[in-house]
Amino acid sequence: MFKLIIHGGAGAIKSPDEYKPSLEKIVTEGQKLLQQGKSATEVVTHCVSLLEDDPLFNAGRGSVLTADERVECDASIMNGENLQAGAVAGVSGVKNPVKLALTVMEKSEFVFLIGKGAEEFAKLHNLEFMPDEYFITESRLKQLKEAREAGKVVLDHSDLKSQKNDEKKLGTVGAVVMDSQGNLASATSTGGIVNKRFGRVGDSSIIGAGTYANNSLAAVSCTGYGEQFIRATMARVAAEFTKELSAKEAAEKAIEFLQKSVNGLGGLIMIDRFGNIAHAYNTPGLLYAQADEKSVKIF
Ligand code: ASP
Repeated sequence: MFKLIIHGGAGAIKSPDEYKPSLEKIVTEGQKLLQQGKSATEVVTHCVSLLEDDPLFNAGRGSVLTADERVECDASIMNGENLQAGAVAGVSGVKNPVKLALTVMEKSEFVFLIGKGAEEFAKLHNLEFMPDEYFITESRLKQLKEAREAGKVVLDHSDLKSQKNDEKKLGTVGAVVMDSQGNLASATSTGGIVNKRFGRVGDSSIIGAGTYANNSLAAVSCTGYGEQFIRATMARVAAEFTKELSAKEAAEKAIEFLQKSVNGLGGLIMIDRFGNIAHAYNTPGLLYAQADEKSVKIF
């Protein structure tokens, strides 16, 4: 038995059908790897790196832009079997921030590396770098301009010009897996929020906030306003709820907690220790897809 769920962010997703082919392709690749017996950490890394390569999503290539028109990525990964974790924040030029997070987990004595130091570590381990043009797309420049004009820092999905703008507005990405050995893992990757500044870091690279995995509880990946998810220690809270509740109830209760405790907005995906898949969100939409041995479902 194995289970896989991936997400492409939460928000007001105006044309969800646009993302379905990518989600289907990526979840099907993940399913294939799980059929071959690959581990949960290998599969979450692979799925998230494919999401990072797809300019439709706000991670890796196609990340939203900072106030000074740069891309600064955050990513993290956690292995539920041994509670090992790796995270990076404020990283520029690294093609796949999730692979860097994995390398931090597997090849260093540390958990969390930031900025220049993380980039240096990436070079040391021969991770692939790409020039600025690879990351920065026309639609992201336009989105930043709108955010600047509105004087706002916003989620990728937020539609500043209300119903007028029907552009590609996508979010943070993540993957959660239970492999055929029964091990859990999760990974999350993002460009953050539009028009961010001062080295702002969200929840996506923070273990216990945007990402959490523990074989005795659950594995979780979150998307939404990072500040609220950090304050709610969201991923860990959602996993803890599975002690008493079904995965579905735990996911819903976690989002309820987010809303009540910090007036938070967003969504999460999870797999509990029994292999039950769940998701919940309080935004207008959440892009996600899931798979097991027999089926692939895109939502
Ligand atoms: N959680 C991400 C952040 O705050 C944004 C998102 O999920 O779209 O950086």
